[in-house]
This record gives sequence, structure tokens and C-alpha cells, in this order.
Amino acid sequence: KTYHLNKSLMQRLSRQPILDLKAVDRVSFSVGSGETLGLIGESGCGKSTLARTVLRLHEPTSGSIVFDGIDITKLPYRGMTALRRRMQIIFQDPYASLNPRKSVLDIVGLPMAIQGIARRADIRDRVVAMIESVGLKSAHLGRFPHQFSGGQRQRIGIARALILNPSFVVCDEPVSALDVSVQAQIIALLGSLKRELGLTYLFISHDIGVIGHVSDRIAVMYLGDIVEIGPTRELLRAPKHPYTKALLSAVPQIDAGPKRERVKLTGDVPSPLSPPKGCKFHTRCPFAFDRCRVETPVLRPQRAESSAACHLLEAS
Ligand code: SF4
Ligand code: MG
Repeated sequence: KTYHLNKSLMQRLSRQPILDLKAVDRVSFSVGSGETLGLIGESGCGKSTLARTVLRLHEPTSGSIVFDGIDITKLPYRGMTALRRRMQIIFQDPYASLNPRKSVLDIVGLPMAIQGIARRADIRDRVVAMIESVGLKSAHLGRFPHQFSGGQRQRIGIARALILNPSFVVCDEPVSALDVSVQAQIIALLGSLKRELGLTYLFISHDIGVIGHVSDRIAVMYLGDIVEIGPTRELLRAPKHPYTKALLSAVPQIDAGPKRERVKLTGDVPSPLSPPKGCKFHTRCPFAFDRCRVETPVLRPQRAESSAACHLLEAS
């Protein structure tokens, strides 16, 4: 099974890709340096597994993951330690991902200690600078996770992820566990940190509103496959894949473009362990026809630097 990277997009992306996945467990995409690629899909569709695979916290069964020119699937596991400085992850649930018995100083400073930066004073100085840049205070250093609100805990998680100066950060549902008002603050913080520090994000969410707001491009995932990928404006204005249309039908249309076709999903999400044959979406797709049940569609270039995988979208 082959995927076609959208050539015109790759040529027009002025930035070099910092991350390039080629058919890793059937998924292919690139993330340009300085870009935010949003990854959206329902829970259980494989978004977090993909996130962990990108960082090799989960071993891929196939393909290559090229980070800044190096195929990390070929590195010995220990070789990843040096690269980990440059690739980090922010988790969904800041409370579960912070050790309740450790202080902010220890939590945020731990990655430095792991990297062999031993001087306590150096760690402390750096941790203070880092927590201030995420909106916390040096007075917070000795406190423990339970003494903070959900939003503050996510700020601690962000500080921990950024302490080693990474260039690439996977944000795995970083605001899904937070109240809506706090979500906006954390999204704004991630945006300003990105600009200040020149970060590249792979931003994962099940919330099309959040993804539409933060992303330069969006990849739509269904049962482990990317079914559509394209620039945010184009994808929101003129979604091509029936599943993308269904995701967007669930939210009010705010852009001024032509009225989007509304697509209603039927049926339950099949088990990712035994996905339907052919197009995995055929059991829920209102447009499914015979061919969909036997033949798997591949991602093909569409209008405006988008690609989508649907038999209805083949060149006509
Ligand atoms: Fe629907 Fe068929 Fe397209 Fe799959 S290939 S999205 S089932 S029309
Ligand atoms: Mg998840």
C-alpha cells in the first residue's frame, strides 16, 4: 500500500520537514519546521499511539521516522537519549503525569538530571527561568502537584517538556482535561511559547474547534489511518472526506465560505483491533458503495494542497 505525499505542498513548504513519517504502521505525513500539524480523530482511533510512536515510546512495526535527517527507527534505544532533548511530549492529564511526591523543582528539573546535568544550582536557575516563562513563580518551586489547579498543573507539564530546549513537541490532548476557560489560556501559552522558542508542534485533539484554532495543517485520523490531510483553511472550508465532513457537521460553521454539506455518522466506532475490510469507514459512511467494502482507498492529492482517501474522490 503506498501513499502519495502531496508534491506541490512539499515544494511550496518553504521550511524543511523536521519530522517525516513514511508508512509507519500505515500512516505517512511530514511536519515542517516551525509548523503546527493538528491531528484529529475520535478517542480510540490511534492518535496517542501515533504520538508515542513518533517519540519511539512505542515501537513501530513498519516504516521510517526521520527526525531532522536521522531515521530514529534505526537508532539503538540508548541512542534516543540524546535525541529526547529535542523531542518532547505534553500529556493530556497533567495530574496523572506528575509525580505527586515530587516538588515542582524536582519534576521540572528531572529531565536535566537524566541528561546528566548534575549541578543543583544550574538546574534550579534553569527551572526558575522555565516556570516563569510558563506563568508560574519561583515561590512555587517547593510546592507539590496537589497544591495547584488543573491549569497550573498543565503549566508544570509544559515547563517539564520544554526544560531541555526541544525543537519538536508532541502535544497529546493538552487541554482536554481542563475547563473551557482554562483551555483558552493554555492554548494561548502554547502559541506564545512556540513563537518565542521556535517550536514545531504535533498537536493532537478530538476537538475540531481546538484543532482548527491551533493548526497550520490538519490530519484527520480514523481507526489508525489518516483519511484526509490539508491546510487548515481549506480543510475547514471544503472538507473532502466523508468522515471529515461528519466531524465538521457536529460544530457550527463560522467561516464565510460556501455552506458545508452536513454528513451524519451512523453506527458505532468499530474495534480498532478488527477494523472493517476495504475502507475502514464503510460501516458508518452514508455514501458507501460496493467497492468500499472490498478495496482500501489510498490518500490522493486533491484541490489546494489537500489529500484524501476515498473512492468517491478519485480523479474524474
Ligand atoms: Fe465512504 Fe467509500 Fe469513501 Fe470510504 S471510500 S469514505 S466508505 S465513500
Ligand atoms: Mg489519547
